[in-house]
Amino acid sequence: MYPVIGKLMSWVTDSCLSFPCPACGSLEISERNVFCENCLSKFKTVQGVLCPGCGAELDTALELCSNCLKEEPRAWDQALALFQHEGLGRRMLHAFKYHNTPELARAFGILAAEKLNTSGLQPDYIMPVPLHWTRAWNRGFNQSELVAEELARRCDIAISYDLRRIRRTRQQAKLTRVERKKNLIEAFSVNHEKFYKNASILLIDDVMTTGSTLQAAAEALRKCQAGRIMIMVIARRI
Ligand SMILES: [Zn+2]
Ligand SMILES: [Zn+2]
Repeated sequence: MYPVIGKLMSWVTDSCLSFPCPACGSLEISERNVFCENCLSKFKTVQGVLCPGCGAELDTALELCSNCLKEEPRAWDQALALFQHEGLGRRMLHAFKYHNTPELARAFGILAAEKLNTSGLQPDYIMPVPLHWTRAWNRGFNQSELVAEELARRCDIAISYDLRRIRRTRQQAKLTRVERKKNLIEAFSVNHEKFYKNASILLIDDVMTTGSTLQAAAEALRKCQAGRIMIMVIARRI
């Protein structure tokens, strides 16, 4: 066979059997993810000891990082973050949320499963942080829910949709720190409360900035006497 034809045939086969890397379009995707190795290496992941408050690098000799020390005590026990909200990670998350690329849920779901497995945490339930139904309806999907579903499937953990957003809130990004907290009062409730007594729960959200959304969600779980509460975000914004 002529080499050119062979090359062409393998290119056609590869193209038909695998999807290109969602970040750069390369067909050489890595074995561990749908991103290629080169793109995976560009995500700024956390090295070293994790801050239990936000999942970022612990930059103090204390129990929490310098950012978390400025915040009120967290309502959760442990935080995990897939990567920092910068560079390629930031661009991919933006594409996921605003440019109708729900297929990125698979890539983030694989990273999330890797993260959870290496953390040793074993939640009874995975709960996505819900959007208010009007916002989910506008966007067509809830990005946190898609990643949570992928993670639950891969780690064989039950997923729960009992965390509800009962009040439509203003977008957090446009508010000051004090306004953010006020904005979220009574924003969440939990269906079938008794069911979650003493249960360990992993909350999934897309981005953590000050953590006020997750704080309000975790407080709703505390009210129903959940056991260990953990959070996982796709990106941690410094
Ligand atoms: Zn790539
Ligand atoms: Zn922290």
